Amino acid sequence: MEKTDVLVIGGGATGTGILRDLALRGVDAILVEQQDLAYGTSSRFHGLLHSGARYAVGDPESARECREENAILKRIARGCVDDTGGLFVLLPGDDPGYAEEWLAACRRAGINAREISAAEALRLEPSLNPALERAFRVPDASINGFALVWANVGSAAVHGARVYTYTKVDRIILRDGAVSGAQLTDLRKGEQRRIECRLIVNATGAWAGRIARLAGCELSILASKGSLLVFNHRVTNRVVNRLRRPGDGDIIVPQDTVAVLGTTSVTVDGPEHPGSSRTEIDRLLLLGRDLVPGLDERRVLRSFAGVRPLYQESGGAGEQPADGRAVARQFALIDHGRQGVRGLITVVGGKLTTYRLMAEQAGNLVCTQLGHDAACRTADEVLLPEVTPAQIKRLQRYFSFPVSHKLAKRLGRADLEHLLGILGRDGWKRQFVCECEQVCLAELEWRATGGSWLRLGDLRCRTRFGMGTCQGTICAARAIGQLYQDGLFDLGRARRLLAEFLDERWMGNREVLWGDQLRERLYARSVYLNLHNFQKEADDYGL
Ligand SMILES: Cc1cc2nc3c(=O)[nH]c(=O)nc-3n(C[C@H](O)[C@H](O)[C@H](O)COP(=O)(O)OP(=O)(O)OC[C@H]3O[C@@H](n4cnc5c(N)ncnc54)[C@H](O)[C@@H]3O)c2cc1C
Repeated sequence: MEKTDVLVIGGGATGTGILRDLALRGVDAILVEQQDLAYGTSSRFHGLLHSGARYAVGDPESARECREENAILKRIARGCVDDTGGLFVLLPGDDPGYAEEWLAACRRAGINAREISAAEALRLEPSLNPALERAFRVPDASINGFALVWANVGSAAVHGARVYTYTKVDRIILRDGAVSGAQLTDLRKGEQRRIECRLIVNATGAWAGRIARLAGCELSILASKGSLLVFNHRVTNRVVNRLRRPGDGDIIVPQDTVAVLGTTSVTVDGPEHPGSSRTEIDRLLLLGRDLVPGLDERRVLRSFAGVRPLYQESGGAGEQPADGRAVARQFALIDHGRQGVRGLITVVGGKLTTYRLMAEQAGNLVCTQLGHDAACRTADEVLLPEVTPAQIKRLQRYFSFPVSHKLAKRLGRADLEHLLGILGRDGWKRQFVCECEQVCLAELEWRATGGSWLRLGDLRCRTRFGMGTCQGTICAARAIGQLYQDGLFDLGRARRLLAEFLDERWMGNREVLWGDQLRERLYARSVYLNLHNFQKEADDYGL
């Protein structure tokens, strides 16, 4: 049995943020995640680092929090943020009175919203609706959830924290009304284990109600599903918001080489396997073309969905659940001691943008309960140290200037140094496994041999291979072939890993099959059936 002071449950932005917060304060902590890191909403979201402008009218407290955290994350986590800037645009037919109300609310919240002419907006973003009536610049940005989660864990580990993925909490153990540990299943080995602890922090997002119930506590979480569409290039270079009351299909976020349009809001039973319906997809395309004419004719790579964990303070049994858009985006920090269970803390709700603040407040409560006197350091201590110009120069021995910069941003200083070490020994490993996302063999092999992963998709999330236009058709076979040659697994496992990977990619493709995307999938199918003789796997997985 392992022992720690604090057990953090949940490997999303909130849980990993808490782990880092505690580790930097010198608190002994373990994080457990039932799947791989960022399995939940922290990877199934829009990718918008909010300036707060979206919430200025309806939720001023969230707006203020977002404004402050936006500035902090741009400073401490530059490697995870693409500081694109944002535009709010008023379209014909939308309420012009709302624009004034919004502008005044932004001023009250301290958000820097600056009007520019329609002509200037169209010069900056030529794809936008040419009939737009007003436009405002705001400090919105794009943020990479995977990179953020991994950076938090990397920093926490340096300060002594432990992390176990594919480890699910099944039971919370109580002694005399206080938490004393948890029983877990190691899903890799199928074994049960226990961790003894003084406190548990429940950071399981849309699963938070279930964890609270394991300790006999009530917690009302509204699960609000949102669907998103990924276009195969950057439709706009800035985040674009439609200037009206928050609704469906009113934001486009550029993410690396692609753009994401969203979202919808549909109340669902729980967080498992959220998928996008054709109705949602049609609605998004219909609304998206108001912002960008012809958007519905552009190529959609995939759809995906996530579940917002919205905390409802008074939503006890028997009450009607509220509509997702009506619930405030503020977060809740709950000490279940008030419900008679000492040592259990839940932190839930909020936004990915405010994860650090959520972690700070949870960390403060943990320290108070442990009697540990240490201040929070996460607002000042850089999360992902940036690469140096000298490193970029060395990288350019192997890659072109743009590729070097892309890799440098993805890896950060420490990981890049490691990669440079490998390339210094085996320069030929600069060859790309994935051209779309520029993932080289050295990076793939290093991630595959150096960390704990179970599925090929876990390596995809660490490197981004398979996320581009071919959606794994070419690069997945290359990757698995190389790792098999390296002796990481036998042939049977190689085939299973590949089939599972293709199935996962297929889940996001199947609702968006028309035009070029349909041609691409038919091509992928023929590659795997005819070239790799994958008939059995295709049947098993319904490819
Ligand atoms: C469609 C959509 C769009 C969004 N867009 C934005 C946006 O643009 N900007 C923004 O700031 N926010 C956005 N959000 C909100 C944001 O994504 C979430 O608030 C945030 O990611 C929640 O993070 P979390 O760590 O609390 O939860 P999660 O990321 O869901 O993490 C919880 C983790 O707990 C794990 N877990 C659950 N049960 C157990 C168990 N028994 N044992 C071990 N582990 C367990 C889960 O596997 C999961 O990985 C969006 C949300 C949605 C749904």
